[in-house]
Amino acid sequence: MTNLDPRSMIATAGLMSAFMVIVLLFMRRNYPPSIRGIGAWAVAPMLWLVSSSFFSTRHVMHEWLSVLLANLLLLLGSTTYYMGTRSFFGHPTTWRPWSRVIAGTMLMLVVFTYWLPHYALRLGLFTAVMSALYAAQLRFMLRHGGRSFPARLVQAVLALHLAVLATRLVTVITGQAGTDLMAPSLFQTFYIGAYTLTVLMLPIGAVLLATDRVRTELEHLATHDSLTQALNRRALLQRCEEELERARRYGDGPAIMMLDLDNFKAVNDTRGHQHGDAVLAYFADRVRQALRRPDHLGRYGGEEFMVLLPRTDAEAARRVAQRIHAALSTGHPLDCQVSIGLTGWKGPDDTLDAMLSRADAALYRAKELGRNQTVEA
Ligand code: GH3
Ligand code: MG
Ligand code: MG
Repeated sequence: MTNLDPRSMIATAGLMSAFMVIVLLFMRRNYPPSIRGIGAWAVAPMLWLVSSSFFSTRHVMHEWLSVLLANLLLLLGSTTYYMGTRSFFGHPTTWRPWSRVIAGTMLMLVVFTYWLPHYALRLGLFTAVMSALYAAQLRFMLRHGGRSFPARLVQAVLALHLAVLATRLVTVITGQAGTDLMAPSLFQTFYIGAYTLTVLMLPIGAVLLATDRVRTELEHLATHDSLTQALNRRALLQRCEEELERARRYGDGPAIMMLDLDNFKAVNDTRGHQHGDAVLAYFADRVRQALRRPDHLGRYGGEEFMVLLPRTDAEAARRVAQRIHAALSTGHPLDCQVSIGLTGWKGPDDTLDAMLSRADAALYRAKELGRNQTVEA
Protein backbone atom coordinates (compact mmCIF):
# COMPACT_ATOMS: atom_id res chain seq x y z
CA MET A 1 0.00 0.00 0.00
CA THR A 2 1.43 3.33 -0.97
CA ASN A 3 1.06 6.08 1.56
CA LEU A 4 -1.45 8.64 0.46
CA ASP A 5 -0.81 12.29 1.08
CA PRO A 6 -2.58 13.10 4.38
CA ARG A 7 -3.35 16.64 3.29
CA SER A 8 -5.35 15.57 0.23
CA MET A 9 -7.15 12.91 2.21
CA ILE A 10 -8.23 15.47 4.77
CA ALA A 11 -9.36 17.78 1.99
CA THR A 12 -11.42 14.92 0.51
CA ALA A 13 -13.08 14.37 3.88
CA GLY A 14 -13.96 18.07 3.96
CA LEU A 15 -15.50 17.91 0.51
CA MET A 16 -17.62 14.91 1.48
CA SER A 17 -18.79 16.72 4.59
CA ALA A 18 -19.83 19.68 2.44
CA PHE A 19 -22.03 17.47 0.25
CA MET A 20 -23.61 15.83 3.26
CA VAL A 21 -24.36 19.24 4.81
CA ILE A 22 -26.37 20.15 1.71
CA VAL A 23 -28.30 16.88 1.78
CA LEU A 24 -29.07 17.12 5.49
CA LEU A 25 -30.09 20.79 5.34
CA PHE A 26 -32.47 19.93 2.53
CA MET A 27 -33.94 17.11 4.60
CA ARG A 28 -34.27 19.32 7.63
CA ARG A 29 -36.34 21.76 5.60
CA ASN A 30 -38.53 19.18 3.89
CA TYR A 31 -39.01 16.39 6.39
CA PRO A 32 -41.83 16.52 8.95
CA PRO A 33 -40.85 18.37 12.14
CA SER A 34 -41.80 15.27 14.15
CA ILE A 35 -38.44 13.86 13.06
CA ARG A 36 -36.02 15.37 15.53
CA GLY A 37 -32.25 15.64 15.39
CA ILE A 38 -31.76 16.38 11.68
CA GLY A 39 -30.65 19.94 12.49
CA ALA A 40 -27.83 18.70 14.70
CA TRP A 41 -26.97 16.03 12.15
CA ALA A 42 -26.59 18.81 9.55
CA VAL A 43 -24.43 20.98 11.82
CA ALA A 44 -22.01 18.11 12.59
CA PRO A 45 -20.56 17.77 9.06
CA MET A 46 -20.44 21.60 8.87
CA LEU A 47 -18.12 21.57 11.88
CA TRP A 48 -16.15 18.65 10.42
CA LEU A 49 -15.81 20.57 7.17
CA VAL A 50 -14.32 23.61 8.89
CA SER A 51 -12.21 21.34 11.09
CA SER A 52 -10.82 19.52 8.04
CA SER A 53 -9.89 22.76 6.33
CA PHE A 54 -8.07 23.92 9.48
CA PHE A 55 -6.27 20.58 9.84
CA SER A 56 -5.02 20.82 6.27
CA THR A 57 -3.33 24.15 7.11
CA ARG A 58 -0.97 22.38 9.52
CA HIS A 59 2.54 23.97 9.23
CA VAL A 60 1.08 26.70 7.04
CA MET A 61 -1.01 28.50 9.59
CA HIS A 62 -0.53 29.09 13.30
CA GLU A 63 -0.99 26.19 15.67
CA TRP A 64 -3.92 27.78 17.44
CA LEU A 65 -5.83 27.36 14.17
CA SER A 66 -4.38 24.18 12.69
CA VAL A 67 -4.16 22.29 15.99
CA LEU A 68 -6.37 23.79 18.65
CA LEU A 69 -9.32 25.09 16.67
CA ALA A 70 -9.19 22.13 14.28
CA ASN A 71 -9.34 19.65 17.17
CA LEU A 72 -12.02 21.66 18.97
CA LEU A 73 -14.24 21.65 15.88
CA LEU A 74 -13.68 17.94 15.34
CA LEU A 75 -14.74 17.26 18.92
CA LEU A 76 -17.71 19.61 18.66
CA GLY A 77 -18.80 18.06 15.36
CA SER A 78 -18.67 14.54 16.77
CA THR A 79 -20.54 15.60 19.91
CA THR A 80 -23.17 17.42 17.83
CA TYR A 81 -23.70 14.30 15.75
CA TYR A 82 -24.18 12.29 18.93
CA MET A 83 -26.70 14.82 20.26
CA GLY A 84 -28.57 14.65 16.96
CA THR A 85 -28.77 10.88 17.32
CA ARG A 86 -30.07 11.23 20.87
CA SER A 87 -32.77 13.70 19.79
CA PHE A 88 -33.72 11.51 16.85
CA PHE A 89 -34.40 8.59 19.19
CA GLY A 90 -36.33 10.82 21.61
CA HIS A 91 -33.67 11.04 24.32
CA PRO A 92 -32.59 14.25 26.07
CA THR A 93 -29.31 15.70 24.83
CA THR A 94 -26.37 15.55 27.24
CA TRP A 95 -24.48 18.69 26.23
CA ARG A 96 -23.56 19.73 29.76
CA PRO A 97 -21.23 16.86 30.72
CA TRP A 98 -19.73 16.69 27.23
CA SER A 99 -19.06 20.42 27.05
CA ARG A 100 -17.12 20.07 30.30
CA VAL A 101 -15.11 17.22 28.80
CA ILE A 102 -14.44 19.34 25.70
CA ALA A 103 -13.39 22.38 27.75
CA GLY A 104 -11.05 20.25 29.87
CA THR A 105 -9.56 18.64 26.78
CA MET A 106 -8.93 22.01 25.15
CA LEU A 107 -7.20 23.27 28.28
CA MET A 108 -4.88 20.28 28.25
CA LEU A 109 -4.24 20.68 24.53
CA VAL A 110 -3.21 24.29 25.12
CA VAL A 111 -0.80 23.09 27.79
CA PHE A 112 0.72 20.39 25.57
CA THR A 113 0.96 22.72 22.58
CA TYR A 114 2.43 25.87 24.12
CA TRP A 115 3.60 25.30 27.64
CA LEU A 116 4.97 21.75 27.47
CA PRO A 117 4.92 20.97 23.76
CA HIS A 118 4.54 17.23 23.41
CA TYR A 119 3.01 15.73 20.26
CA ALA A 120 2.50 12.20 21.63
CA LEU A 121 0.84 13.38 24.86
CA ARG A 122 -1.42 15.73 22.93
CA LEU A 123 -2.34 12.98 20.52
CA GLY A 124 -2.88 10.42 23.28
CA LEU A 125 -5.13 12.73 25.24
CA PHE A 126 -7.20 13.73 22.24
CA THR A 127 -7.54 10.14 21.04
CA ALA A 128 -8.65 9.00 24.50
CA VAL A 129 -11.38 11.66 24.62
CA MET A 130 -12.56 10.84 21.10
CA SER A 131 -12.65 7.15 22.03
CA ALA A 132 -14.82 7.92 25.04
CA LEU A 133 -17.18 9.96 22.87
CA TYR A 134 -17.48 7.27 20.20
CA ALA A 135 -17.87 4.57 22.84
CA ALA A 136 -20.76 6.54 24.38
CA GLN A 137 -22.37 6.91 20.95
CA LEU A 138 -21.93 3.25 20.10
CA ARG A 139 -23.39 2.22 23.44
CA PHE A 140 -26.37 4.50 22.86
CA MET A 141 -26.96 3.17 19.34
CA LEU A 142 -26.71 -0.45 20.45
CA ARG A 143 -29.22 0.17 23.23
CA HIS A 144 -31.71 2.45 21.52
CA GLY A 145 -30.97 2.40 17.79
CA GLY A 146 -32.89 -0.74 16.92
CA ARG A 147 -32.03 -3.30 14.29
CA SER A 148 -32.92 -1.58 11.04
CA PHE A 149 -30.33 -1.53 8.28
CA PRO A 150 -29.51 2.19 8.82
CA ALA A 151 -29.06 1.58 12.55
CA ARG A 152 -26.78 -1.37 11.85
CA LEU A 153 -24.77 0.75 9.43
CA VAL A 154 -24.25 3.53 11.98
CA GLN A 155 -23.36 0.98 14.64
CA ALA A 156 -20.80 -0.61 12.34
CA VAL A 157 -19.22 2.74 11.42
CA LEU A 158 -19.02 3.77 15.08
CA ALA A 159 -17.51 0.41 16.05
CA LEU A 160 -14.97 0.60 13.25
CA HIS A 161 -13.99 4.13 14.16
CA LEU A 162 -13.69 3.17 17.80
CA ALA A 163 -11.40 0.27 16.85
CA VAL A 164 -9.20 2.63 14.82
CA LEU A 165 -9.07 5.12 17.70
CA ALA A 166 -8.13 2.34 20.13
CA THR A 167 -5.36 1.18 17.79
CA ARG A 168 -4.13 4.73 17.53
CA LEU A 169 -4.11 5.04 21.30
CA VAL A 170 -2.00 1.90 21.52
CA THR A 171 0.51 3.22 18.98
CA VAL A 172 0.78 6.44 20.99
CA ILE A 173 1.34 4.59 24.25
CA THR A 174 3.93 2.31 22.69
CA GLY A 175 5.70 5.30 21.20
CA GLN A 176 4.97 4.64 17.54
CA ALA A 177 2.83 7.70 16.96
CA GLY A 178 5.38 9.50 14.86
CA THR A 179 6.02 13.12 15.44
CA ASP A 180 3.67 14.81 13.07
CA LEU A 181 0.17 14.46 11.63
CA MET A 182 1.35 15.30 8.14
CA ALA A 183 4.24 12.85 8.06
CA PRO A 184 3.06 10.08 5.71
CA SER A 185 3.16 6.69 7.40
CA LEU A 186 1.12 3.53 7.01
CA PHE A 187 -0.77 4.05 10.22
CA GLN A 188 -1.34 7.73 9.61
CA THR A 189 -2.82 6.85 6.21
CA PHE A 190 -4.99 4.21 7.86
CA TYR A 191 -6.17 6.62 10.55
CA ILE A 192 -6.94 9.50 8.23
CA GLY A 193 -8.63 7.09 5.81
CA ALA A 194 -10.86 5.85 8.62
CA TYR A 195 -11.62 9.44 9.56
CA THR A 196 -12.59 10.27 5.97
CA LEU A 197 -14.84 7.23 5.83
CA THR A 198 -16.48 8.12 9.14
CA VAL A 199 -17.28 11.73 8.28
CA LEU A 200 -18.92 10.47 5.10
CA MET A 201 -20.68 7.40 6.49
CA LEU A 202 -22.12 8.92 9.66
CA PRO A 203 -24.11 11.58 7.79
CA ILE A 204 -25.18 8.94 5.24
CA GLY A 205 -26.35 6.82 8.17
CA ALA A 206 -28.29 9.84 9.46
CA VAL A 207 -29.95 10.33 6.07
CA LEU A 208 -30.94 6.65 5.94
CA LEU A 209 -32.23 6.68 9.53
CA ALA A 210 -34.40 9.74 8.86
CA THR A 211 -35.68 8.37 5.54
CA ASP A 212 -36.55 5.08 7.16
CA ARG A 213 -38.42 6.95 9.91
CA VAL A 214 -40.42 8.97 7.37
CA ARG A 215 -41.34 5.80 5.53
CA THR A 216 -42.49 4.13 8.76
CA GLU A 217 -44.51 7.19 9.78
CA LEU A 218 -46.19 7.47 6.38
CA GLU A 219 -46.92 3.77 6.37
CA HIS A 220 -48.48 4.10 9.80
CA LEU A 221 -50.58 7.09 8.69
CA ALA A 222 -51.75 5.17 5.63
CA THR A 223 -52.80 2.08 7.57
CA HIS A 224 -54.06 3.39 10.92
CA ASP A 225 -56.98 5.41 12.16
CA SER A 226 -55.71 8.53 13.92
CA LEU A 227 -58.32 8.61 16.72
CA THR A 228 -58.10 5.01 17.89
CA GLN A 229 -54.78 3.87 16.38
CA ALA A 230 -56.67 0.81 15.14
CA LEU A 231 -55.96 -0.38 11.60
CA ASN A 232 -58.13 1.34 9.03
CA ARG A 233 -60.65 -0.62 7.04
CA ARG A 234 -58.46 -1.11 3.97
CA ALA A 235 -55.44 -2.31 5.94
CA LEU A 236 -57.53 -4.66 8.06
CA LEU A 237 -59.34 -6.21 5.08
CA GLN A 238 -55.99 -6.71 3.39
CA ARG A 239 -54.70 -8.58 6.44
CA CYS A 240 -57.88 -10.68 6.45
CA GLU A 241 -57.30 -11.64 2.81
CA GLU A 242 -53.68 -12.55 3.54
CA GLU A 243 -54.78 -14.66 6.48
CA LEU A 244 -57.37 -16.52 4.39
CA GLU A 245 -54.78 -17.10 1.71
CA ARG A 246 -52.45 -18.58 4.30
CA ALA A 247 -55.26 -20.66 5.81
CA ARG A 248 -56.03 -22.24 2.42
CA ARG A 249 -52.47 -23.55 2.34
CA TYR A 250 -52.10 -24.66 5.95
CA GLY A 251 -55.70 -25.42 6.94
CA ASP A 252 -55.93 -23.34 10.12
CA GLY A 253 -58.27 -20.44 9.47
CA PRO A 254 -58.96 -17.23 11.37
CA ALA A 255 -62.00 -16.12 13.29
CA ILE A 256 -63.37 -12.63 12.82
CA MET A 257 -65.53 -10.43 14.97
CA MET A 258 -67.67 -7.42 14.14
CA LEU A 259 -68.11 -5.09 17.08
CA ASP A 260 -70.60 -2.25 17.29
CA LEU A 261 -70.83 0.01 20.32
CA ASP A 262 -74.25 -0.04 21.96
CA ASN A 263 -76.39 3.09 21.96
CA PHE A 264 -73.45 5.19 21.00
CA LYS A 265 -75.61 7.89 19.47
CA ALA A 266 -77.05 8.46 22.96
CA VAL A 267 -73.51 8.82 24.38
CA ASN A 268 -72.80 11.54 21.82
CA ASP A 269 -76.14 13.20 22.35
CA THR A 270 -75.95 13.36 26.15
CA ARG A 271 -72.20 13.81 26.78
CA GLY A 272 -71.04 15.51 23.60
CA HIS A 273 -69.05 14.45 20.58
CA GLN A 274 -65.65 14.91 22.27
CA HIS A 275 -66.63 12.59 25.08
CA GLY A 276 -67.76 10.16 22.36
CA ASP A 277 -64.31 10.37 20.77
CA ALA A 278 -62.67 9.68 24.13
CA VAL A 279 -64.91 6.63 24.57
CA LEU A 280 -63.87 5.32 21.14
CA ALA A 281 -60.15 5.72 21.92
CA TYR A 282 -60.57 4.10 25.33
CA PHE A 283 -62.61 1.29 23.80
CA ALA A 284 -59.85 0.53 21.27
CA ASP A 285 -57.23 0.49 24.04
CA ARG A 286 -59.21 -1.93 26.15
CA VAL A 287 -59.90 -4.24 23.23
CA ARG A 288 -56.23 -4.30 22.24
CA GLN A 289 -55.33 -5.30 25.79
CA ALA A 290 -57.79 -8.18 25.60
CA LEU A 291 -56.23 -9.43 22.35
CA ARG A 292 -53.14 -11.55 21.84
CA ARG A 293 -50.07 -10.46 19.90
CA PRO A 294 -50.98 -11.72 16.40
CA ASP A 295 -54.58 -10.41 16.60
CA HIS A 296 -55.58 -7.22 14.82
CA LEU A 297 -58.12 -4.58 15.71
CA GLY A 298 -59.46 -2.44 12.88
CA ARG A 299 -61.92 0.42 12.71
CA TYR A 300 -64.50 -0.57 10.17
CA GLY A 301 -66.19 2.82 10.25
CA GLY A 302 -67.84 5.13 12.80
CA GLU A 303 -68.35 3.15 16.01
CA GLU A 304 -67.99 -0.19 14.27
CA PHE A 305 -64.82 -2.22 14.67
CA MET A 306 -63.53 -5.53 13.49
CA VAL A 307 -61.11 -7.99 15.02
CA LEU A 308 -59.09 -10.55 13.09
CA LEU A 309 -57.92 -13.54 15.11
CA PRO A 310 -55.46 -15.56 13.01
CA ARG A 311 -55.42 -19.36 13.47
CA THR A 312 -58.27 -19.28 15.94
CA ASP A 313 -61.40 -21.45 16.09
CA ALA A 314 -64.81 -20.09 17.07
CA GLU A 315 -64.59 -21.45 20.60
CA ALA A 316 -61.32 -19.69 21.38
CA ALA A 317 -62.71 -16.56 19.74
CA ARG A 318 -65.72 -16.66 22.07
CA ARG A 319 -63.35 -16.54 25.04
CA VAL A 320 -61.65 -13.48 23.55
CA ALA A 321 -65.09 -11.87 23.11
CA GLN A 322 -65.89 -12.54 26.77
CA ARG A 323 -62.60 -10.90 27.75
CA ILE A 324 -63.61 -7.84 25.73
CA HIS A 325 -67.01 -7.57 27.42
CA ALA A 326 -65.32 -7.92 30.81
CA ALA A 327 -62.63 -5.35 30.02
CA LEU A 328 -65.34 -2.77 29.27
CA SER A 329 -67.28 -3.11 32.51
CA THR A 330 -64.75 -2.07 35.14
CA GLY A 331 -66.46 1.04 36.47
CA HIS A 332 -64.20 3.35 34.45
CA PRO A 333 -65.92 6.63 33.42
CA LEU A 334 -65.30 5.81 29.74
CA ASP A 335 -66.69 2.28 29.96
CA CYS A 336 -69.15 1.38 27.22
CA GLN A 337 -71.02 -1.67 26.04
CA VAL A 338 -70.55 -3.50 22.80
CA SER A 339 -72.37 -6.10 20.74
CA ILE A 340 -70.25 -8.65 18.92
CA GLY A 341 -70.94 -10.85 15.93
CA LEU A 342 -68.44 -13.67 15.62
CA THR A 343 -67.69 -16.28 13.03
CA GLY A 344 -65.07 -18.94 12.48
CA TRP A 345 -63.49 -20.21 9.30
CA LYS A 346 -65.55 -22.90 7.57
CA GLY A 347 -62.83 -24.46 5.41
CA PRO A 348 -60.93 -23.73 2.19
CA ASP A 349 -64.08 -22.71 0.31
CA ASP A 350 -64.91 -19.97 2.80
CA THR A 351 -64.41 -16.42 1.54
CA LEU A 352 -63.91 -13.10 3.26
CA ASP A 353 -67.21 -11.80 1.88
CA ALA A 354 -69.05 -14.80 3.30
CA MET A 355 -67.34 -14.44 6.66
CA LEU A 356 -68.13 -10.73 6.83
CA SER A 357 -71.81 -11.26 6.09
CA ARG A 358 -72.05 -14.04 8.68
CA ALA A 359 -70.39 -11.84 11.29
CA ASP A 360 -72.66 -8.96 10.33
CA ALA A 361 -75.77 -11.09 10.64
CA ALA A 362 -74.58 -12.35 14.03
CA LEU A 363 -73.99 -8.78 15.18
CA TYR A 364 -77.50 -7.81 14.07
CA ARG A 365 -78.82 -10.72 16.08
CA ALA A 366 -76.85 -9.65 19.16
CA LYS A 367 -78.46 -6.22 18.92
CA GLU A 368 -81.90 -7.82 18.60
CA LEU A 369 -81.32 -9.99 21.62
CA GLY A 370 -80.77 -6.93 23.78
CA ARG A 371 -77.16 -5.79 23.07
CA ASN A 372 -74.01 -6.16 25.27
CA GLN A 373 -73.46 -9.76 24.16
CA THR A 374 -71.77 -11.96 21.59
CA VAL A 375 -73.56 -14.07 19.01
CA GLU A 376 -71.82 -16.64 16.84
CA ALA A 377 -72.68 -17.53 13.25
P1 GH3 B 1 -76.81 0.61 18.40
O1 GH3 B 1 -76.72 0.09 19.79
O2 GH3 B 1 -77.99 0.06 17.68
O3 GH3 B 1 -75.57 0.37 17.63
O4 GH3 B 1 -77.09 2.16 18.53
P2 GH3 B 1 -76.07 3.29 18.16
O5 GH3 B 1 -76.58 4.56 18.75
O6 GH3 B 1 -74.70 2.91 18.58
O7 GH3 B 1 -76.09 3.25 16.57
P3 GH3 B 1 -76.19 4.37 15.50
O8 GH3 B 1 -75.66 3.72 14.25
O9 GH3 B 1 -77.58 4.91 15.45
O10 GH3 B 1 -75.24 5.52 15.94
C1 GH3 B 1 -73.87 5.48 15.78
C2 GH3 B 1 -73.33 6.80 16.25
O11 GH3 B 1 -71.92 6.81 16.28
C3 GH3 B 1 -73.75 7.92 15.35
C4 GH3 B 1 -72.48 8.70 15.11
O12 GH3 B 1 -72.69 10.08 15.39
C5 GH3 B 1 -71.53 8.13 16.10
N1 GH3 B 1 -70.17 8.18 15.62
C6 GH3 B 1 -69.67 7.59 14.51
N2 GH3 B 1 -68.35 7.87 14.38
C7 GH3 B 1 -68.01 8.67 15.43
C8 GH3 B 1 -66.81 9.32 15.85
O13 GH3 B 1 -65.74 9.20 15.23
N3 GH3 B 1 -66.84 10.05 16.98
C9 GH3 B 1 -67.98 10.18 17.70
N4 GH3 B 1 -67.96 10.92 18.81
N5 GH3 B 1 -69.14 9.61 17.31
C10 GH3 B 1 -69.17 8.86 16.20
MG1 MG C 1 -73.25 1.35 14.13
MG1 MG D 1 -73.76 1.29 17.62
